[in-house]
Amino acid sequence: DKNNQVIEIRGYIFNQNHIKDIEFQIEKERKRLENIIDSNSIGTWEWNVQTGETIFNERWAEIVGYTLDELKPISIDTWIKLVHPDDVEKSTSALNAHFRGESNQYECEVRMKHKNGHWVWVLDKGKALNFTPEGKAHIMFGAHTDITERKAFEKKIIEVSIRDPLTSIYNRGHIFSRLNEIKAKYERDKVDFSIAILDIDYFKRVNDNFGHLAGDFVLQEFTKVLSKNIRPFDLLGRFGGEEFIIIMLNCKKDTASLRIEDILKIIRNTNFIYKNQRINFTFSAGISDSSDREFENLSLDSLIDNADKKLYLAKKLGRNRIITELEE
Ligand code: GH3
Ligand code: MG
Ligand code: MG
Repeated sequence: DKNNQVIEIRGYIFNQNHIKDIEFQIEKERKRLENIIDSNSIGTWEWNVQTGETIFNERWAEIVGYTLDELKPISIDTWIKLVHPDDVEKSTSALNAHFRGESNQYECEVRMKHKNGHWVWVLDKGKALNFTPEGKAHIMFGAHTDITERKAFEKKIIEVSIRDPLTSIYNRGHIFSRLNEIKAKYERDKVDFSIAILDIDYFKRVNDNFGHLAGDFVLQEFTKVLSKNIRPFDLLGRFGGEEFIIIMLNCKKDTASLRIEDILKIIRNTNFIYKNQRINFTFSAGISDSSDREFENLSLDSLIDNADKKLYLAKKLGRNRIITELEE
């Protein structure tokens, strides 16, 4: 009224049940999502692709050994600073493929630097769910999973599957798959390579005279000498029982034969001692190279077969020698 006294109050009552229901449902969903994220140790991220603004959860920071507070101020640069430089390109191209609509989601395995200095393997997945009017990715949501253990296990499995258990050098299967790559490289870039097959002379006698364990010892010691005397990028493999293969890149058979000759000299002059017994041995070798066959006919089988025939000839001519030509 004129004296500012309240005369009448009008109130309205609305039924909010449906809104409360929705709020309750949302809270339930949020809790459910939180539980899933927690129980799977998932680091979450939201990224405004246009501004660089970024939100991580506490687990995101924890995977790399930090708290969120320690990482502040947080932006996309926080991630860029922590990711392994060699993995940036891979991640960027997977992202761009996703932005171009070529992949339904972004997915990449990257290494990230842990606070303690070591590298942590992270599976990084995400999806752009918001787009600018021009169709550019706007907001992206994603998750980090720590896959360090899985990666270490995978590495171990691969190592075991490509190596010979007795000598730890490559096995036959791995040598063949590498030879296929080397052959492709030769066809593309004309990078020469040589194949040497080495076979220990009268190895059966080592087993007969000194026992099978002494034979194993000799095989191990022999591979040590071979490993020490090839170049880091040459490949050494166990081809069969006492047969070995060396693939030398950027190297034709004249040079290859000089290298193998040096190794033969070392072996001739080495006394291998097993349980106070002196064991001496020699080997024979056959060498072929990428120029041994016309380019059109270059097949790995024929190159290996060629080296094998030369090895056989070396044996026939009295062993303890290296053969590079089948006919004089
Ligand atoms: P050659 O000069 O003609 O090559 O004679 P060799 O005695 O070396 O050849 P042969 O093929 O007759 O014998 C090879 C032997 O190598 C037979 C086999 O028992 C032995 N051998 C193969 N693998 C292993 C192994 O892993 N350990 C041991 N101790 N012996 C092996
Ligand atoms: Mg032999
Ligand atoms: Mg043999």
